[in-house]
Amino acid sequence: MGSYANHSCIPSTFKEVAIPEDIASRPGTPDSECCPSVASASASFSRALTPPSSPGKSRQEMPQLVLRAHHDLAEGDIINYSWIPEYLPTWKRQELLQARYGISCSCDRCVRNPEVVNAYHCPKCGKGPCSPTLPISAPGGDLKGHHLSCESCGALSVEDTALAECMEAERSAAGLEKQAQVLHQYHYSIVAANHDSLASLPPAERIHAVEILMEAHRRLFPGSGHPLMGWLCEQAAAAHAALGDHHQAVAGYRRAQELYALSHRGPPETGHDQRCYLQQMRLSAGPLGVVARRLSKPPGQLSRTPSLPTLEETEADKCADEGQVS
Ligand SMILES: [Zn+2]
Ligand SMILES: [Zn+2]
Repeated sequence: MGSYANHSCIPSTFKEVAIPEDIASRPGTPDSECCPSVASASASFSRALTPPSSPGKSRQEMPQLVLRAHHDLAEGDIINYSWIPEYLPTWKRQELLQARYGISCSCDRCVRNPEVVNAYHCPKCGKGPCSPTLPISAPGGDLKGHHLSCESCGALSVEDTALAECMEAERSAAGLEKQAQVLHQYHYSIVAANHDSLASLPPAERIHAVEILMEAHRRLFPGSGHPLMGWLCEQAAAAHAALGDHHQAVAGYRRAQELYALSHRGPPETGHDQRCYLQQMRLSAGPLGVVARRLSKPPGQLSRTPSLPTLEETEADKCADEGQVS
């Protein structure tokens, strides 16, 4: 491929297109474009990669292709991003990479990491998530010969009947409600369904779905500043506002602001921070539109600070992260 930033299923950065005119951007939406240019790989913070200027437009007016680091990068670290949706099992990712780009990937997630997005209820304790200890690369997601390890009870399931039940639920057309008796809420099918239906869910259900989606993504990419986190948090804040719970909504927008500060450090300005701040102002304004008290730091003053307790990296997360990111 003629790209300077290669594909990885455990990417060090994510790509977005920042549009200066309306300071809107599309967070983390990998598509078929490749990077037109790339700066030094020694960036220790997010860095904008701008396409060549076109006549008649100033650099500030041009949409900017931006790669932002998921975590601090050291001198010599490889800059890569995912060319395909990330929350998919290995066999599906390999199919997409082959069909769209004619490549196969041999990153750690493709060859040796547990297949965490294939998550099932544990055949032993009923809880889970219970996932294959190795990548599922056989076409169609065949689990034969694999071991399922439970994160709740630690049991290892190797029985053919248990594996067959998992595969049957995955391939069943019985509907998600029936499938969810076997598939865990972190399973890629359930995650995709929750994500796709988010906007149409009633506010209370949307809040619940957001919590599951955030937990699922943190489990896949522990400790990373993923752009989806801020966006999801914003969806939950809007749902709280729709329910009339302004206190929770303000707290949600403040948390989204913190998450964006983690994922979108440095220029160019994306508008995420400003938008969350304005929502807090709006929700906290009294009947005459007066803001009763100062809410949080205004845009531009947020630095990379530890986020709220639920988002702090645990020691286990840090170890897993170090083990996953090469
Ligand atoms: Zn890979
Ligand atoms: Zn278990």
